[in-house]
Amino acid sequence: MSKGNLIDRKLSTRAVHIGSEPDVSTGAVTTPIYATSTYVQESPGIHKGLDYGRSHNPSRFALERCVASLESGAHGFAFASGLAAISTILELLPVNSHIIAIDDIYGGTFRLFERVKKLSAGLSVSYISSFSDPAVASLVQPNTRMLWVETPTNPMLKVVDLEEVVKFARAHNLIAAADNTFASPIIQRPLEYGFDIVMHSATKYLNGHSDVIGGVVVVREDGELAERMRFLQNAVGAILGPFDSFLIQRGIKTLPIRMQRHSESALEIARFLENHSRVKRVLYPGLPSHPDHAVAKRQMELFGGMISVELNASLEETKTFLKRVEVFSLAESLGGVESLIEHPAIMTHATIPAETRASLGITDGFVRLSVGVEDVGDLRRDLEFALS
Ligand code: PLP
Repeated sequence: MSKGNLIDRKLSTRAVHIGSEPDVSTGAVTTPIYATSTYVQESPGIHKGLDYGRSHNPSRFALERCVASLESGAHGFAFASGLAAISTILELLPVNSHIIAIDDIYGGTFRLFERVKKLSAGLSVSYISSFSDPAVASLVQPNTRMLWVETPTNPMLKVVDLEEVVKFARAHNLIAAADNTFASPIIQRPLEYGFDIVMHSATKYLNGHSDVIGGVVVVREDGELAERMRFLQNAVGAILGPFDSFLIQRGIKTLPIRMQRHSESALEIARFLENHSRVKRVLYPGLPSHPDHAVAKRQMELFGGMISVELNASLEETKTFLKRVEVFSLAESLGGVESLIEHPAIMTHATIPAETRASLGITDGFVRLSVGVEDVGDLRRDLEFALS
């Protein structure tokens, strides 16, 4: 049975079926893991369209088609990690390019910009707190090529207005790129707003089970950008392997129901924390108290599983709290079925300079939660006990 017509179905149908068409040779209902580095040729240059594993792997292609469909894009490209994906996107830019980026980004992205690409490619980056500030236009230089946003941001969970970014990109002829890791395509699809590129650390929600490192890039249209990404994926070579492609695709089949559960539980936990006497403030896009709640309501279909919390606590008291949780695990990363908790200043964002962290509000009492799919009552009681 052909499944080509499922391309127009709803997201949760496509999450299960796109890229998982029954195997033509056996009828297997899941895509096989094509563990091969090369393909036999009948005579030199005569083959079935696949010649070498870095360039062609059907398990990887299946995942790439699935994520491209979920993100409403034309083509997907899978990489060995989220950072490999970002690094390859940056290879689109000529030497000595300039980027304008939202100021609250994943620490590893900041490190890649500032400690790798600045030295190897002459990249310069201006960090801004919002694209609505009219002063941002004055940052555009002749070598400015790209806008880089995360939304919600990591770890302050600022919500960036996607429409506004695209308007700015069009006005200045810039590539608009979004890291959609925190939201996933179930919650928002930047390409539908006119972004040119979206990327994921597939390590997080896409895979969802904390057992793979991977990254995916999706481009909106056929054309030059898609051709350049395809060339760079192969030429730079940081591709995702077939076993990991299979695992991420398996994870994606439950992405819609996981995001629903993450979001429902996170809203309940956020409300509980907001009313707790030991909590100074809670950042969750679904709370009316969130500074960007209006934008979040407009562009996010759910509010996601990430919560940031500032405790009324010293560093030592915060460490004690983090040691007392039992259902939450103290660990970096996010987006898995298990709930995680972490201390950005010491863990994920240690690579951000201390003064930048302080200006963003990443204080000693600041913790970030990734709410998993466990029983929400157990999660609430776990935090209640650790705070007591
Ligand atoms: N982007 C975001 C928002 C992240 O949180 C991370 C990792 O935590 C990355 C990119 C990098 O992804 P990876 O760890 O898969 O290289």
